[in-house]
Amino acid sequence: MISGFGRSRREAEEDRQPAVPRAAGRPVICPSCGAPFEVSLKAINARCPKCTKPMRFEDADLNGFCTQNVTTMGTVRVGRKGVVRGRIECGNLVVTGQLDGSIRTNGCCVVQAGGTLRGEMAARSMVVERGGSFEGTLEIGCSIKSAKPAA
Ligand SMILES: [Zn+2]
Repeated sequence: MISGFGRSRREAEEDRQPAVPRAAGRPVICPSCGAPFEVSLKAINARCPKCTKPMRFEDADLNGFCTQNVTTMGTVRVGRKGVVRGRIECGNLVVTGQLDGSIRTNGCCVVQAGGTLRGEMAARSMVVERGGSFEGTLEIGCSIKSAKPAA
């Protein structure tokens, strides 16, 4: 199945990304210990190879008024009609409604037009689109890990 051409292309990819053995995975940063690893795109739960903490990869859609704490490495979406308060720890976050709380995003947070995000926010990266708003404290970068111990 592997032709000579396919193999050379694969080798070229390995040259570029020597640390990632397989291309068909989801890169994950463990929210507990910060260890980077990779899981299958189909996995809905897995354990960190370093600290063995279990984690989920389900996506969550939040709509309407709710107080909810969510922990997932999947994508959390706060819909246009969502008015959500809570503690969210997730892989990616998309806010089109209102979200208040303590939020930790291991990937990218996007506040879309009409979305409002308030509270303590930590994310690897963040985008506030035109028409969206953010109020609160913000920590951005690649050193984002799980909740810091209380000072
Ligand atoms: Zn871990």
